[in-house]
Amino acid sequence: MEVSDHKLIIVGAGPAGLCAALYAARSEMDAVLLDRGPAGGQLLLTDRVDDYPGIKTIGGMELADAMAEHAESFGTGLTRGDVRSIERDSEGRFVVQTAEGDTFRAPALIMTAGGTHKLLDVPGEAEYSGRGVSYCAICDGAFFKGETIAVIGGGDAAVEEGEFLTRYAEKLYVIHRRDEFRAQKMLQEHLLANPKVEVIWDTVVDEIVGQPTGVSGLKLRNLKTDAESELNVTGVFIFIGFTPNTGVLKEHVDHDESGYMVTDYDMRTSIPGLFAAGDLRSQLVRQITTAVGDATTAVFAADRYLKERHGSQNETQNGSESGFQSMVESQT
Ligand code: NAP
Repeated sequence: MEVSDHKLIIVGAGPAGLCAALYAARSEMDAVLLDRGPAGGQLLLTDRVDDYPGIKTIGGMELADAMAEHAESFGTGLTRGDVRSIERDSEGRFVVQTAEGDTFRAPALIMTAGGTHKLLDVPGEAEYSGRGVSYCAICDGAFFKGETIAVIGGGDAAVEEGEFLTRYAEKLYVIHRRDEFRAQKMLQEHLLANPKVEVIWDTVVDEIVGQPTGVSGLKLRNLKTDAESELNVTGVFIFIGFTPNTGVLKEHVDHDESGYMVTDYDMRTSIPGLFAAGDLRSQLVRQITTAVGDATTAVFAADRYLKERHGSQNETQNGSESGFQSMVESQT
């Protein structure tokens, strides 16, 4: 159980956090980078990244390791810390408490904690989680070799991870609630060109059914016709988006209707000294490239904030020193 003081705390070691750590170290900012798990965030759940400029294709884990090594080479390595609360003390410093019992304090903090996968919230989901219901294709795909499985969702994650799952599955149904995907066109083209894939449009899952051994099927409903049907599958992968990981913040911060943190162009939030970067920030797209861009801006804005704060503190101190000085002088 330790208390340590820093200039900057970075919460979350996905691409945004690792990039923030890199720039903070280069700016000699005395930063600490906290994460409860290994460095990489969503990258660790991504099979292949082929839209990071300059790198035609790279494994998610490989890119995570490279980013972590890069940040560490400049001096900011990952500190293990399962962050449980973030508050401000009377001096306006952020006080971060971890499950391990450690306390980290700093006048500036960048939230780069990303998001947690959303649940479908239908009967059977919790019951069969880990027994046919999964949220990670890389982690669980190989368990479904030669089987018929389904993916739920129509965003980048559903389409990209769905294509990955065709390595193992004999047949892959993609079930989407509308009649078009929101995923990037190129990802869609790859998926739709795959003969193992069949898309079920305008349809939602009402229930995940199974036996003691695991999932055996899905009860489906077409939203346009209201027709109900059953589909035999032994696995279902749910990729329907994220909920931003902002719950540890104990003070109100401006957010959009989905809970994503609202920032200005400099990644400043409504709390002075608090910056947000990456997937938990309200913005049009959430990519690795946008995460690292956000993080770069956030570090420079945090650095400027710290200098301004230091300046105003010095002014106050000098003011009180001269006050003190004049008091001493008046007594002599
Ligand atoms: P997303 O873009 O928010 O897509 C979620 C999908 O799930 C949407 O198609 C949505 O349908 C559907 N959905 C939401 N709630 C649902 C429900 N209750 N029942 C059925 N369907 C539901 O989320 P994501 O695909 O997880 O991606 C999150 C972010 O990460 C995105 O910004 C994405 O660009 C990024 N990402 C990027 C990559 C990449 O660049 N390679 C890979 C993965 C993720 P509607 O379309 O009807 O709303």
